[in-house]
Amino acid sequence: MKERLPDLIITDFNMPEMDGAEFVTRCRRDLMDPEIPIVVITAYEDRDFRYRALEAGATDFLLSPIDHREFRTRTNNLLTIGRQRRIIRQRASLLERELDEALRQQAEALRRSEMKLRRLIDTVPALIITSDGAGRCLMVNSFRNLLASGPDIPGGTIEGLFGAAYWHRHGPLDRRILETGQTQVPFEEELPDSFGHVRVFLTTKTPLFSDDGRIDAVVTVSIDVTDRRESEERLVYQANYDHVSGLPNRLMAIDRLSQAMVRAHRDGTDIAILFVDLDGFKKVNDTVGHALGDRLLVTAAARLSDCVGSADTVARLSGDEFLAILPDRRQDGSLDTVARQLIDVMKQPFLIDGHEFYVGASIGISMFPKDGASPEELVQQAKAAIYRAKAAGGGCYRFFSPEMTENAVRRVEMEALLRHALERQELQLAYQPIADVETGGIIGMEALLRWHSRELGLVPPDRFIPLAEETGLIVPIGLWVLKEACRQAADWQRLSGRDLHLAVNVSYRQFVGNDFVGLLADVLAETGLPAGTLELEITERLLMRDVRHALDVLSRLRRMGVRLAIDDFGTGYASIMYLKRFPFNILKIDKAFVSDAPESADGGALVAAIISMAKGLGLEVIGEGVETQAQLEFLHAHGCHHYQGYLISRPTDARTFEALIMGRLAREIPPVAE
Ligand code: C2E
Ligand code: MG
Ligand code: MG
Repeated sequence: MKERLPDLIITDFNMPEMDGAEFVTRCRRDLMDPEIPIVVITAYEDRDFRYRALEAGATDFLLSPIDHREFRTRTNNLLTIGRQRRIIRQRASLLERELDEALRQQAEALRRSEMKLRRLIDTVPALIITSDGAGRCLMVNSFRNLLASGPDIPGGTIEGLFGAAYWHRHGPLDRRILETGQTQVPFEEELPDSFGHVRVFLTTKTPLFSDDGRIDAVVTVSIDVTDRRESEERLVYQANYDHVSGLPNRLMAIDRLSQAMVRAHRDGTDIAILFVDLDGFKKVNDTVGHALGDRLLVTAAARLSDCVGSADTVARLSGDEFLAILPDRRQDGSLDTVARQLIDVMKQPFLIDGHEFYVGASIGISMFPKDGASPEELVQQAKAAIYRAKAAGGGCYRFFSPEMTENAVRRVEMEALLRHALERQELQLAYQPIADVETGGIIGMEALLRWHSRELGLVPPDRFIPLAEETGLIVPIGLWVLKEACRQAADWQRLSGRDLHLAVNVSYRQFVGNDFVGLLADVLAETGLPAGTLELEITERLLMRDVRHALDVLSRLRRMGVRLAIDDFGTGYASIMYLKRFPFNILKIDKAFVSDAPESADGGALVAAIISMAKGLGLEVIGEGVETQAQLEFLHAHGCHHYQGYLISRPTDARTFEALIMGRLAREIPPVAE
C-alpha cells in the first residue's frame, strides 16, 4: 500500500495479528495520503469498538453482514469525495505553485526596482544618508566612497561611518528633526575627501515619515559646492586683489585705508599714504612687451612689500602705480628713511630673462588727518605730490602741500584738452631760422610746435610736451609735426631753389613700440623731402634710458640718410664720451650755456671745450639761443658752425617765416639784430 496508494480502504475490525483500530492507526501513520477514506466493517454494535476505530482515524463504519446497496452507495460517495479532494488538492498545489511564482516574481521586481532606485541614488552627485532615531545608518549612497570615512559596517552608526566630529554636529540636528518634524535650513559644512582635500557641502535635512505618519528617520542630503565656493572666493579675490602682483588692488587699498583711518582717529595717530610710481616703466613695457613688463611689476611689488612692516599695506593701483599705507607714522625722519629706502630698492637693476632693466620710482606722500578726510582724497593728494617729484626729474619723494592740488587739476584738464588738440586743429608749427656763424646766411630752420588751445590760450611746449610724452599722445602729435614740417620744407626748397635744412624735434617716446623708421620713410616719400636735408633733434636725457634700443633706431635712421642732432647738450647727464657711441651728426649747445658764455669765464670755457670736443668727434656744432652780438662773436671766435636765436628771428608762423627767408635769401645780406 505504501508503494501504490489505494483510493479506498475497507477493512474488517476483527482480524488476526492486529485489530481494525491498530490497522487504521498504522495506515494513517505510514501512508502518504492521510485522507484516504478507510471504512471499517464490524459485526458489533458495540460503541467502544467504534470509538476506537474513529480515534484511530477511520472514516466510516459498515455493519456486517453488509447490505450491498448501502455498501455501494457509501463507497461510491467516498470515492467521489476522494476524487474531488484529489482534484482540489492538485488545484491547490497548482495554485500554490502559481502563487509562489507570482510572489517570487514580485519580490524580484521589487528587488530590481529597489536596485534601480539605489543605483539612481548612487548616481546623484550628493551624499545621501538616512538614519534613525538611534543614530544608526539605514542607508548611505556610494558618494560616501569619495569621502574619508570609517569602515562600512552594515547597520553601523553615523558616528562610526563619519567620525565623532561629524556626529557631534549632526546628532543634535537629527534629534531636533525627529522631535519637531521640521526640515533643517541648509547649512555649509566642510568634510575631508579621500584625497585629504577639504570639500565644502551644502547640507539639508528632512524628516522621513512612516506609513502611520510617525517620523522614523532623517534624510540628510549634502551637495558638494566646493567649486562654487572656490569660484566665489576667486571672485572675491579678483575683486580685491591684483592678479599680476597678488597685491591688494585699489578697491581693497581704499578699504584698508578707511579702516586704518578709523583706528587712527580713535588713537589720535597719523597715517602716511605713499603713492609710488615707477619712472620709465612704460618704456620697458613698450620695448619688451607686457609679459616681461608684468614680471618686472611682480618683482617691484615684492621689493616694495619687503620695505614695509606687517601692519602696513602695499597695493597696486594700476599700471605702474603702487600705494603704501603706513599707519601710526609721523611726518618725521623715519618716514623720510622709508621713502628713501623705497626709492633705493627700485633703483636696483631688474633682472628679467637675462636682461637688466633700470627703472626708478617717484613718491608722493600725503598724511592723515592733515591732508584729507576721505581715503580717495588722501590718495589724490599723494598723487598730486608725485607730480612734483616727477617734475623734479623723478627718483625722489615729495610731501603734499595744498597748492599742489590746483596744479594736478590743471594737468588733468590739460590732458583732456590735449587729446583733442589734433582733431580740433589747434596745433601749429612755428619756424626759427638756423644760420651760418661765418657767413650769416640762412641754411635752414627748426620747426617748433605751438598749441593754441581754445580753452587755455597759447600753451608753451615746455608745459604740454612733457605731458604728451607721458601720456603717449606725443606719438600721433609727433607724426603730424613730421608730416607738416616736411611738407612745408619741401615747398620752401622748391620755392627757394636751395637745400634748406629742416630740423624737427622728436621724442624718444616716438621710437618706442612703433616702426618710427618706416613711418618716417613714408613721410619722406609722400612729401618728397630729400632725407639728407632732414635733421632729427633728440634730447640727450631721453637716450640714456635704453642705450641699446636707441642705438639701433638711430643707426637705421642714419642709414636712410637722415641727419641726427643731439639737442640741449649740457643739460642732461650724457658725457661727451657717450656721443662717440651714438651716430650723431650735429650737437646743439643749450641756450643756457650760450647766454653765459661771453660774460662768465667758467661758462665761456665750458662752451669752448664743448665746441672743440664736438669738432674733434667730427660733429657739426650749433649754438642755440643767441640773443646778442657778443654771444654770436663768442661762438664765431671758438669755431662754432651754426647758430640760432632771437638775434636772427624768434620762431614765427609759416607765412611770416616764408616772407622773412625769401627776402633774406634774395638779398643774401648778413643778419641784423631785432
Ligand atoms: P628746443 O628744441 O631746444 O627749441 C629751442 C627753444 O629755444 C624753442 O623754445 C625756441 O623758441 C627757444 N629759443 C630760440 N631762440 C631763442 C633765444 O634767442 N632766446 C631764448 N630764450 N629762447 C630761444 P620752444 O619753442 O618754447 O620749445 C621748447 C622746447 O620744446 C624745444 O626746445 C623742444 O625741446 C620742444 N619742442 C618744440 N617743438 C617740438 C616738437 O615738435 N616735438 C618735440 N618732441 N619737442 C618739441
Ligand atoms: Mg630743438
Ligand atoms: Mg634746444
